[in-house]
Amino acid sequence: MHHKKRILVTGGAGFVGSHLCGRLLEKGAKVLCVDNFHTGSEKNILHLADNPDFDVLRHDITQPFFWEAHQIYNLACPASPVHYQEDPIRTTRTNVIGSMNMLDLALKLGARILQASTSEVYGDPETHPQAESYRGAVNCIGPRACYDEGKRVAESLFFDYFRQHGLKIKVARIFNTYGPRMDSKDGRVVSNFIVQALTGQPITIYGDGSQTRSFCFVDDLVEGLIRLMESDDSITGPVNLGNPGEFTIQELARLVLRFTDSDSTLCFMPLPQDDPKRRRPAIDMAKKLLGWEPLVPLEDGLKKTVEYFSGILKGE
Ligand code: NAD
Ligand code: UDP
Repeated sequence: MHHKKRILVTGGAGFVGSHLCGRLLEKGAKVLCVDNFHTGSEKNILHLADNPDFDVLRHDITQPFFWEAHQIYNLACPASPVHYQEDPIRTTRTNVIGSMNMLDLALKLGARILQASTSEVYGDPETHPQAESYRGAVNCIGPRACYDEGKRVAESLFFDYFRQHGLKIKVARIFNTYGPRMDSKDGRVVSNFIVQALTGQPITIYGDGSQTRSFCFVDDLVEGLIRLMESDDSITGPVNLGNPGEFTIQELARLVLRFTDSDSTLCFMPLPQDDPKRRRPAIDMAKKLLGWEPLVPLEDGLKKTVEYFSGILKGE
C-alpha cells in the first residue's frame, strides 16, 4: 500500500502557511496544521477543511506535542512588526522555545525539519545585495530584536541539532513576501497600500519612501520552500528565498495607485526605528542548489493581490 507523506506545518493558518498547506495537499500529502491563531485565521484554511487529508490542531508550539510526521515546516511566529512587537517576550519565546520543541519532535521521529527564517537576520545590512555569507547588522536591544534575534537563535539551534545529533535540517531565509490572504490589519506595506488605495485613504509612506524592498509573490515562495525541503540531505541552507527585483517604497505606492485606479494622496509619516534602508536577496544559491527563481513579476502579483483585497472589502 502507498503511504502518504505526513507533513506538519506550524503556523499553517497564517498567510504563507495556508498557501503551503494547500500546495502540499495538492501534491498528495497528509497535512496537519498546528496553529494558536494568534495572527492566523480560520478563514485562511476554510477552503481546505473538507479535504480528508487535512487536519488542524489549535496549539501553541511553546508547549510540546506529538504527531508522527515525516517532515516539519516550522512557520509559527508572527511576521509583521506590528504583531511581533505587541508582546515581544512572547515572540522570542515562540522563536526559541517553540523552535526547540519542534526540533526535539523532529529528533524523536527522525523527521526532516525546515525553519522559516528571515532576511531580518541581516538587520539593517551594510552589504548589498545580501548573500547568505553576510553575518548581518542587528541591533540586539532595539524594538525589532525579539524577532530578528529570535530568528537568529532559532538558526543557531537548527545548526546545533544538525551538528550534535545529525538532524536533517533546512533553513530558508525568506525576504518580503506578499499575496492573497495577507492580513489587512497587520500593517505590512503591500496590504496597507492596497487597502488604503481601494478605500480612498491617503497612502502612508514612512520616511521619504526612498528605502527599498524586494517583494516575492507567495506562490513563488511556497515553491522554493518545498524544493528546499525535498532537496538532498546534504543541503542544509541557509538559503535566501526572495525576489531580487528591488523597488523603493515610493515606486510601490505608485504601482498600487495605478493598479487600483485610485486617486488617494501620498502622506509622509515618521520612519520607524531600525527600519532597514535597503534590502535585496542574492539568490544564486537557491538557483544553483534548487533550480529555483521567482517567476511572478511584481505587476502580476500586485494585480492578484488587489483582486483579493477588493473581494474582501466587498465582503465576498
Ligand atoms: P503570519 O503571522 O500570517 O503567520 C504566522 C502563523 O503562526 C499565524 O497563523 C499565527 O497564528 C501562528 N503562530 C504564531 N505564534 C505561534 C505559536 N506560538 N504557536 C502556534 N502558532 C503560532 O505570518 P506569515 O507572513 O505567514 O509568516 C510565516 C513565517 O514566515 C513566519 O515564521 C515568518 O517569520 C516567516 N517570514 C515571513 C515573511 C513574509 O514576508 N511574510 C518574511 C520572512 C519570514
Ligand atoms: N512602510 C510604509 N508604509 C506602511 C507600511 C510600511 O512606508 O504603511 C514601509 C516600512 O517602513 C518599511 C517597508 O515599508 O520600510 C516595508 O515594511 P513592512 O512592515 O511591510 O516589512 P519589513 O520592514 O519587515 O520589511
